[in-house]
Amino acid sequence: MATISEDRRAAYPEVETMTAAVVHDFTEPLVLETVPKPVAGPGEIVVRIEASGLCHTDIHAAHGDWPVKPSPPFTPGHEGVGIVEELGAGVTEVALGDRVALPWLGYACGMCDYCVSGWETLCLEQKNMGYSMDGGLADYAKAHARYVVRVPEGVEPADAAPLTCAGVTTYKAIKVAGTRPSDLVAVFGVGGLGHLAIQYAAIAGARVVAVDLFDEKLELARELGAEFAVNAATTDPVEYIQALGGADQAIALAVSPSAFRQAYGSLRRGGTLVFVALPAENHVELPIFETVLNAITVVGSIVGTRRDLREVFELHAAGKTRVIRETRSLGEINEAIADVEAGRVPARIVFEP
Ligand SMILES: [Zn+2]
Ligand SMILES: [Zn+2]
Repeated sequence: MATISEDRRAAYPEVETMTAAVVHDFTEPLVLETVPKPVAGPGEIVVRIEASGLCHTDIHAAHGDWPVKPSPPFTPGHEGVGIVEELGAGVTEVALGDRVALPWLGYACGMCDYCVSGWETLCLEQKNMGYSMDGGLADYAKAHARYVVRVPEGVEPADAAPLTCAGVTTYKAIKVAGTRPSDLVAVFGVGGLGHLAIQYAAIAGARVVAVDLFDEKLELARELGAEFAVNAATTDPVEYIQALGGADQAIALAVSPSAFRQAYGSLRRGGTLVFVALPAENHVELPIFETVLNAITVVGSIVGTRRDLREVFELHAAGKTRVIRETRSLGEINEAIADVEAGRVPARIVFEP
């Protein structure tokens, strides 16, 4: 059976090209260059990107910051949203013209214990968009049809993009935290992730205390439903939150081990600390004695499943969340990275081709 891709190639035998942001070297800026447009293989699709968010993970990927490194050259981006333009052989999960999101979990085996128990994000066979597969910071991206998530009517592409990682990651973190109505949730770091974490904690019925180093971000946190906001540059957040009775859950979203220590210190007895951010500095020291006597839970939370992302989109379509973002052109990617690293960005940068 001829696939749509093959038909297209037959009609236009010359190689089609596109613009992509490419990492060639972990110590060099990204290069915006012309590369061949991807072709959909069996089970794959090609998506014309309408909006693509910049996540801190993309910056870590471009710098090779983590123990497991991507292999240059590659294109980062795991918040790509766009229209399905090509279907590879055997694709039935989506149709041409569908709007889909291309999340971090680009592929999983679908058969292992993790995959069949709702923990596909732990699959050992997984591939990740913008890390082990080329990502969405380009005009087009190739994806596995089974691992994209349809974007419902009523969710704009530029909103869907940040929801595809920042949204699903913080939504899952609140689920993993086990937040219940009347809990006090401390959100450390009010950026692309934190501004959504505050909203999901509030949706779960919690009272929220936001911690950041910038007053503008704390103001935004209040607008989005945080009842308390602490500037950790001028006030000790541990003392402040303990004076409120201590947090039932603390969500560590700031890329600094000291924020993780503060998040730990802000917990009440029986509290849960959720590790989400991935600082380049990989270790944090936590006390054993207090962890045991206070029955503290420390848990890691990695992105979310396709189901979590569907729920995130549903909440947004229902008007329950607000995405704070600014749009830029992909040509400004290196400036955008510098701005994110310097904390000069209110929440999320979204690139539109
Ligand atoms: Zn991300
Ligand atoms: Zn699996």
